[in-house]
Amino acid sequence: MNNRQLLRYSRHILLPEIDISGQEKLLKTHVLIIGAGGLGSPAALYLAASGIGKLTICDGDTVDLTNLQRQIVHPSSAIGLSKTESAQHTLSRLNPEINVISYPNHVKEADLQQLVAVSDAVIDASDNFATRHSINKACVALQKPLISGAAVRFEAQVSVFDLRLQHSPCYHCLYPLHGESEDMPCAIMGIFSPLVGIIGSIQAAETLKILLNIGKTLNGRLLLLDGLTMNWRTIKLKKDPFCELCQLN
Ligand SMILES: [Zn+2]
Repeated sequence: MNNRQLLRYSRHILLPEIDISGQEKLLKTHVLIIGAGGLGSPAALYLAASGIGKLTICDGDTVDLTNLQRQIVHPSSAIGLSKTESAQHTLSRLNPEINVISYPNHVKEADLQQLVAVSDAVIDASDNFATRHSINKACVALQKPLISGAAVRFEAQVSVFDLRLQHSPCYHCLYPLHGESEDMPCAIMGIFSPLVGIIGSIQAAETLKILLNIGKTLNGRLLLLDGLTMNWRTIKLKKDPFCELCQLN
């Protein structure tokens, strides 16, 4: 690290759990973020500021006016631009020392295999069950840690599926069915703005902990938040012995 980096990351380096060696590790890592919306925005901002060396951001949508109430990586001037291009612009201004790669497409299963294979950790910040299941499938197959978040109205949840570990449950163990009937498009659902900030920030925190191998992650725990009462609940998750995805590995 050069002197500017030592200063930029000094408040991380002061933490004995991170130190210079941890920060150097972060600078060499590659995180894949799927979704540059409400959850992906804070996750990407914190990871960029934290000095993750390479961030790949996938999203097939363009920025529109209704996004700006919560998708804080996008400024008003980005309306009409692809979300990944807009995110790339904001993140590069926040931290010009990192490499931000824009992938402006809706991810398909074949692309996911390739994108996940070259990543050290994967953040699921998508907004539909089909994509969530595809991401999980790639992470199970390639044994990559998956940091998963979801939020709608005033309710949110976040968990880690550390698929590097044999005993870890996967997303499919938790939600065995595909194409749930309650999979409503975000376009017609309300969402409390700071809720995605809270959950996306937790996803960034868990990603850093996984990459640094510090503390205890949310692996095997599902954290549920009711934004109206600010009550948190934790549910223990177990690997489903009959999970068709886990059984393949
Ligand atoms: Zn499973």
